Amino acid sequence: MTGAAHPNWRGGGLKNGYRIRSLGATAYIYEHRAVMEKHLGRKLRRCEIVHHKNGDKLDNRIENLELMSVSAHTKLHSPQPTSEQRHRGPRK
Ligand SMILES: [Zn+2]
Repeated sequence: MTGAAHPNWRGGGLKNGYRIRSLGATAYIYEHRAVMEKHLGRKLRRCEIVHHKNGDKLDNRIENLELMSVSAHTKLHSPQPTSEQRHRGPRK
């Protein structure tokens, strides 16, 4: 189920597995970002990511959300290299 095809679509819905709020015909905001912005009392920057602590993208309770930088977030989600992968680096 995606976007407008979602049965509960009423100006909101799902995008990339995240809940979104519609801001117009084509504009939308991710709900978890909106929740974090409200919590912080300011707009998020582009470089700021709102991470779902329990991995449930639909769980937008503030206690499940964590603000982090893009680089920290990427690191968090990238699996730790196995010993096999570590050996695959360029040979000297
Ligand atoms: Zn995340």
